[in-house]
Amino acid sequence: MFDLLIKGGTLPDGTVADIGITGDRIVAIGQLDAQAGRVIDAGGDLVCPPFVDPHFHMDATLSYGTPRINASGTLLEGIALWGELRAVATIEAMVARALRYCDWAASMGLLAIRSHVDTSDDRLLGVQALLAVREQVKDYIDLQLVAFPQDGLYRTPTARENLIRALDMGVDVVGGIPHFERTMAEGAASVRDLCEVAADRGLMVDLHCDETDDPMSRHIETLAYEAQRLGLQGRAVGSHLTSMHSMDNYYVSKLLPLIAEAGVAAIPNPLINITLQGRHDTFPKRRGLTRVKEMQAQGIVVGWGQDCVLDPWYSLGTADMLDVAFMGLHVAQMTHPAEMARCFEMVTETNARIMNLADYGLRVGAVASLVVLDAASPIEALRLRPDRLAVIAKGRVIATRARNDARLAIPGRPGSVRRRHLPGAPV
Ligand SMILES: [Zn+2]
Repeated sequence: MFDLLIKGGTLPDGTVADIGITGDRIVAIGQLDAQAGRVIDAGGDLVCPPFVDPHFHMDATLSYGTPRINASGTLLEGIALWGELRAVATIEAMVARALRYCDWAASMGLLAIRSHVDTSDDRLLGVQALLAVREQVKDYIDLQLVAFPQDGLYRTPTARENLIRALDMGVDVVGGIPHFERTMAEGAASVRDLCEVAADRGLMVDLHCDETDDPMSRHIETLAYEAQRLGLQGRAVGSHLTSMHSMDNYYVSKLLPLIAEAGVAAIPNPLINITLQGRHDTFPKRRGLTRVKEMQAQGIVVGWGQDCVLDPWYSLGTADMLDVAFMGLHVAQMTHPAEMARCFEMVTETNARIMNLADYGLRVGAVASLVVLDAASPIEALRLRPDRLAVIAKGRVIATRARNDARLAIPGRPGSVRRRHLPGAPV
């Protein structure tokens, strides 16, 4: 007797199986005939573990247009605009926006999010707001918070102290932004400082690193060095790494093995990088995505992040990690079937590994968080970015949606149409 039974789902590896859930755990996977309190008939639909976003800014989300829009579309105007918004923000407004975004995420099966939270403001309003949100959503979303000195660790007198205060208040991960410090030397010093803080406290470190078109922005080299020096393998992340797009190839051939040796993971954010980078170029216009396939070929863990939804840096966004993977697939030219399948893993399993989510996955004993999609395979899910028919969080069904085929009124053609189609299947 299960509490919940999902019948006949297609798992990401293509096998068809039932999944039995008791309490908040997956207790059986296979051909299951037991009774259950509730049965969801997946009927061949894709059943996968939840989507995971390892890079987000929940303190800024859903604020687009307040107090004005980013007219130039650049990272730097976004940071300036965030400063204006921060001055008028309240805890209540931030909590309300974040909870509304979490509703969107829950409906899309996005059930684990790492959010940076700006610690530059001495009042730490964002930290207070997101700690409250983390507590409020914990039954359905694992929210991991990063102490993020948005204005730089050394550019304002209280930035370092505020970061430490945020960690003392319960923020999970150490953040930073070395390319925004005053000089390259100060950037490198901030990387060393922040890695030492993480090592001393036994925390993970996740830096906005080299989010610039400047090929000489090489803070990832320092991050890799400090991660191996301090034993932070598997606990250190370089987010964005867009300067690598423009770096000299010979230098990169030395850099990538150092990143692999240091166990530093990479999080490109394709929706954001494709819109923010290259804004100072004419043509050819660089597109600013880091070297995804090349890093993966070296054994470096790379996961797709979303970064922004409707905020000073990005005017769109949907909480759909399949949109993120779809953009990444195109910009990184990951069109081989094995690469497309990997893009799906990069918004599920790989991101869970980056966030060190111990109980994640489609296996007996894991937390029963699952998504049923209106698609038959991971690649089809990337192509269609389909409806989530059911979302299960820690054993509870938290979102459902009826299958919604389009009705056709064309003489001689079927009365309804679905765009599902697997390669090689009869038309
Ligand atoms: Zn970011």
